[in-house]
Amino acid sequence: MEARSGRHVRWPLVGLLIAAVVSVACSGGGLADPEGERPAPSGSAASPGPSTTRADSTTSVAEFEQDVADAQAIAERYWAAQFKASGQRFQPVKRITPYQREGEVSCGGQPLPRNNAVYCSRGDFIAYDVRWSVAAFRQVGDAFVFYLLGHEYAHGIQVRLGINYSFTIQQELQADCMAGAYLGDSVRSGALTLAEGDLDEFREGLAAVGDDPDQPWFAEGAHGTAEQRTDSFFRGYEQSLGACDLG
Ligand SMILES: [Zn+2]
Repeated sequence: MEARSGRHVRWPLVGLLIAAVVSVACSGGGLADPEGERPAPSGSAASPGPSTTRADSTTSVAEFEQDVADAQAIAERYWAAQFKASGQRFQPVKRITPYQREGEVSCGGQPLPRNNAVYCSRGDFIAYDVRWSVAAFRQVGDAFVFYLLGHEYAHGIQVRLGINYSFTIQQELQADCMAGAYLGDSVRSGALTLAEGDLDEFREGLAAVGDDPDQPWFAEGAHGTAEQRTDSFFRGYEQSLGACDLG
């Protein structure tokens, strides 16, 4: 995947880490369970696409920060255009805040734990443990940043639209769909360019992010099985927001 700026975005597949990361990348008031990082197998079965170079398999904090900024900019442009098209004013999420220590940032009086990323509806901000996120970025690939930001940003959009499902899983699967739509539509608009093999990498990556099969679907914190999450993401990716039940 290549951002319009010309930088390339890879998503090597490291399933276990993705599973840990996305299952804690949670929403709203619910500050997800701090599962922490799991050891992930090194290396990747995915070979770089033709327009992807090894040289840009970025690992520096500066590159990470640039990816966060790019993902934020693309998300803001995307959602601003969607709101404008339906005649509504769009307010971007107030800020995206890195933190390093437990309790350094709070959401509605609740200190954010290490190894997490959340959208906080009380303060309308996204916050992420920067060390944990950089570690995930280094192990998974930089496209992960675009997905993570897209998912958390979608929670901010849900709040703007007044969407509040009874069950966490509905909120989460919709956010996956919206993250898929933001990525798919950005590819269609040319804001992002996929390299050959990237779609398979998304698919394989998403297949790894599901809840445990014995997780009750109605449980607090449930995000959905691998199949549900993959279906939701690609419904949005392929069919855009019309497939995300935004009403
Ligand atoms: Zn979430």
